[in-house]
Amino acid sequence: MDIYQLLRSYLGSTLRQRAIRSPWTYRLLKQAVAAQKRHYPWQAAHRLLLNTIDQAAAAFLQKGPVIWHNVFFPTEVLYGLGTVPFAPEAAAVVATGLGIAERALQRAEGDWVSSEACSFHRLAHGCDREGYFPPPGAVVCSSHLCDTAPQSLAATAAYHGVPFYLLDVPHQQDDTALEYVARQLKSITFSLVETLNLAWDEDRFQAALVNSNAARERLLAINRLRQQRPACIRGEEAHSFIYLMLAGFGAATSVEVYGELLTELAQRYRDQRRAVPEEKARLVWLHLRPYYPNAIFQILEQEAGAVVVCEEMNYVYWEPLDPERPFYSLARKVLSHHGLGPITRRIEAILAMVDAYQAGGVIHFAHWGCRQSTAGLRMLQDALRERGIPFLNLEGDCVDQSKYAPGAVRTRLEGFLEMLL
Ligand code: SF4
Repeated sequence: MDIYQLLRSYLGSTLRQRAIRSPWTYRLLKQAVAAQKRHYPWQAAHRLLLNTIDQAAAAFLQKGPVIWHNVFFPTEVLYGLGTVPFAPEAAAVVATGLGIAERALQRAEGDWVSSEACSFHRLAHGCDREGYFPPPGAVVCSSHLCDTAPQSLAATAAYHGVPFYLLDVPHQQDDTALEYVARQLKSITFSLVETLNLAWDEDRFQAALVNSNAARERLLAINRLRQQRPACIRGEEAHSFIYLMLAGFGAATSVEVYGELLTELAQRYRDQRRAVPEEKARLVWLHLRPYYPNAIFQILEQEAGAVVVCEEMNYVYWEPLDPERPFYSLARKVLSHHGLGPITRRIEAILAMVDAYQAGGVIHFAHWGCRQSTAGLRMLQDALRERGIPFLNLEGDCVDQSKYAPGAVRTRLEGFLEMLL
């Protein structure tokens, strides 16, 4: 039984909103997941799932002040304050698995949320207004990369009548920008302390940065292993861990999960346990993937032996943080993102991934409504063509299954594979 079947069986069809707020739901769910441990091909994925259930329980049972954040806000701040972070974009993925996306998207449409907007946020809007998400105590959002999140999260904060804090990130990466972002981070942190009546604990705040550095080190080691041939983890499996990049940095539990994944992966490389029987090509995957059942990775990895060895979202783009200078180092992390500023920065980063992972092709999943990831693709395509690297821009939607056309997707993938193999 997969996790979504389990969740559906625990939440039921008519009692879902009430069940989400019952401690029994999480207790029973954890027991059921724990009992399935040996069926998980990666124990790190099992550990991640248990941790995510704990985190969901903390949010839905309001075990602490719940702070909504977008996926680019540095979560070290939220873990450092001892709050319960909640990322609506990540929760939208769970809603997709639970089969409530259609209803939530209809609700968003009924509330006049533009169908041009990113469906992660349309779905989050619908889930929230239908009562499927935990109400926030405050909302924080970073302005960099995603242009939908600031509008969407500001509207959510207004709907719930809670404070909204926007981290305004400029496109430059100079000292003035660094100072500007660091000051805002400090101001947001202490505003949250005051507004939510939190106890300021400097040691806990620094510990979140230490955890972040430890998670970063382990992820770097995982990525170095994945640069070896042949691959010992399929891209479809590695994608599950992107959740940590979007919502887990600063948490001690993320260090555990990456540590477990590193141990398992290193063992598989020692044993030469290949990800697929015959590795015929290596791919870099840009942006995210669809989260409803689909055949994309089956076609690429299992049928064609074209393994996704690197995900852009698992790329470590920042230097270690300095716990003694938390706001400056978090500001530096934010400003280091390769998607911020001129497109040449993202292109350079992607070319570096192609080289490091010895990739022969690149696939970009063009999620509907995401301007930050699709803008500038033509220049990326030109840069890859100059290097003779085949590129596929696969259009679709990460969470809206109604946009998935299996026949057309297979045709496009097979055309790409013909160029590649
Ligand atoms: S997919 Fe793009 S538009 Fe949507 S939340 Fe992510 S960054 Fe923002």
